[in-house]
Amino acid sequence: MPAAPLHQPPSRRRTALLQWIDSDYTSESREKIRAEPDRVDWTRCLPFIFLHLGCLGVIWVGASPVAIGAAVVLYFLRMFAVTGIYHRYFSHKTYSTSRVGQFLLALWGATTVQRGALWWAYHHRHHHQHSDEPEDAHSPHVHGFLWSHIGWITSRRNFPTDYTTIKDLARFPELVWLNRFDTAVPLVFAFAVFGFGALLETYAPGLGTNAWQMLIWGFFISTTILFHATASINSLAHLMGKRRFATADDSRNSFILALVCLGEGWHNNHHRYQSSTRNGFFWWEIDLTYYGLKALSWTGLIWGLKPVPASVMEEAVRADHPAHLDSANPAAPSPREFSSGKKPLPAR
Ligand SMILES: [Zn+2]
Ligand SMILES: [Zn+2]
Repeated sequence: MPAAPLHQPPSRRRTALLQWIDSDYTSESREKIRAEPDRVDWTRCLPFIFLHLGCLGVIWVGASPVAIGAAVVLYFLRMFAVTGIYHRYFSHKTYSTSRVGQFLLALWGATTVQRGALWWAYHHRHHHQHSDEPEDAHSPHVHGFLWSHIGWITSRRNFPTDYTTIKDLARFPELVWLNRFDTAVPLVFAFAVFGFGALLETYAPGLGTNAWQMLIWGFFISTTILFHATASINSLAHLMGKRRFATADDSRNSFILALVCLGEGWHNNHHRYQSSTRNGFFWWEIDLTYYGLKALSWTGLIWGLKPVPASVMEEAVRADHPAHLDSANPAAPSPREFSSGKKPLPAR
């Protein structure tokens, strides 16, 4: 993919700098920007580069069991936010919550440093509508592995949120605010992690950690790994694993990705049927996000988790055991005939 000239026009550089604070700021039409060819906007993505470079701070701050433990805990808490909130709620509306609950979920999601829930949902719904077609912003089959993994997120045309395609979410001003000022929550989160380290240094010096060490492990390293694990669903989950359903894209089921990404590795299942809360269709398809959402539903914060329809489950069983079921019911259609795969979006 072409990179933008390093000598950007000053007006564009100024716009990119202002977008660090107000991601909706622009002096050009968003439609025009989205219609541009892909090109890296280096000024705009400097904070993203800084996030990666921040991991090198470990050279100076060192490590301690408590700092590494915090990085692991914060990884899983926030991977749950990516999968259970940004993906299974905002992108697909696979369960319900109140307006206050929705705002709390969006706040939790924003700590992942993967921009606002609305930008995330807009891109993800677009992915389902155009999976592995030229319009798909992050198809490894169309754009190559590196672009599908990390390149697309640095491209100028992919920064603006298309609010017209997520009207069900854009009608909530509090969500639009979080989306627009998408560095606010990550900054507060980083300060909180830093403060936590300072408290431990003062009140539990025996743990051997401090504010800067906690910031590097709990924020920079944990968030960078979180990004790459999430991005692997865009890149690897369309390359690595098995295809149970003959969907119109090249999505795959991977046990390893399902463990790392708390159930998102069952990506072929998900592309086959997007509206269920669970991505693991059978008990052995471990889906920790679903178990977490089930537990959250017992608190009353969320409700109305959507099941996998019996017809899709039957299709899955037939795909796994074709000889067995086809001999029992020779008139049954093959999985290929069932699997239309894409396009459906949550009800507006
Ligand atoms: Zn996909
Ligand atoms: Zn999805």
